[in-house]
Amino acid sequence: MESGESGVIFDIQRFSIHDGPGIRTTVFLKGCPLGCVWCHNPESKAGEPEIAYYAEKCALCAACVGLCPSRCHEMAGGAHVFRREGCARCGRCAQGCHAGAMALIGREITAGEAIAEVLKDEVFYSHSGGGLTLSGGEPFFQGAFALALLRLAKERNLHACAETCGAVPWETLRRAAEFTDIFLYDVKETSAERHRACTGAANGAILSNLEKLDAHGARIVLRCPIVPGLNDREDHFAALGALAGRLRGVERVDIEPYHPLGLSKAAAIGKPQLYEGRSLTGKDVSAEWARKVERHTDKPVAVS
Ligand code: SF4
Ligand code: SF4
Ligand code: SF4
Repeated sequence: MESGESGVIFDIQRFSIHDGPGIRTTVFLKGCPLGCVWCHNPESKAGEPEIAYYAEKCALCAACVGLCPSRCHEMAGGAHVFRREGCARCGRCAQGCHAGAMALIGREITAGEAIAEVLKDEVFYSHSGGGLTLSGGEPFFQGAFALALLRLAKERNLHACAETCGAVPWETLRRAAEFTDIFLYDVKETSAERHRACTGAANGAILSNLEKLDAHGARIVLRCPIVPGLNDREDHFAALGALAGRLRGVERVDIEPYHPLGLSKAAAIGKPQLYEGRSLTGKDVSAEWARKVERHTDKPVAVS
């Protein structure tokens, strides 16, 4: 039954080198309980498939007009007009759009099918120490599916990492710990008030789950997105360092500098971002952030 457990994913990325040790295949699951104002994967937030429109790719061929049962597409004055309201996410326009301007983001897949995809690169994992990584969204938003993937990975001797924002039931994380070699655990804000303002949720349960995972003996990498003007504060850097130093299972802190890639992805699905910073963070700035955390911990701090 485990291999037949199904869920919704939006990507399987081969040859990832930033999602855990070695060469990895990252499976991105849809759905997330948080609403980070800077979200780098806005197409992952909804649990179900959704339709994206990349206007800059549109070749004005009009093929989508006749394909849509909901009349969402129209050619008007030589321009393509897409009306998202009424879209039933059937994916017909995406299938018929050869320019790649329409895309259905998300597809259902069984755990067995996903692991079969991951196993195609098994030879690279054994040479590099890599394996499977679950990402999202929040992978444990689809708890049963994520657990099935991790269990199957372990049955096939795959090294398994799981990214998590921590806003999931403790029982799910406890069960995941049986099959997960390393948790890549997000800490977005150490201030409760700022966490609520930036993600729409309190951080109490997230930090409590982190403490429990640590007490459970899990290996943990803290992943800390730093967003200029929102959490690049001295008190946050100090609190991150103190947290990493205190938790025995934390092996490293990864500073993840903000990048604006989420903006165009959010526009494509018709859900604009609240945080609209368009600049990439300079290497010198992110190195300085890392140094500020390092001052408060004996654990390694890296910029990813
Ligand atoms: S099918 Fe694609 S390229 Fe053609 S008009 Fe529609 S969105 Fe544009
Ligand atoms: S996904 Fe289906 S309903 Fe939505 S715009 Fe495309 S063809 Fe129309
Ligand atoms: S936890 Fe990740 S996927 Fe969820 S809203 Fe935040 S950045 Fe986006």
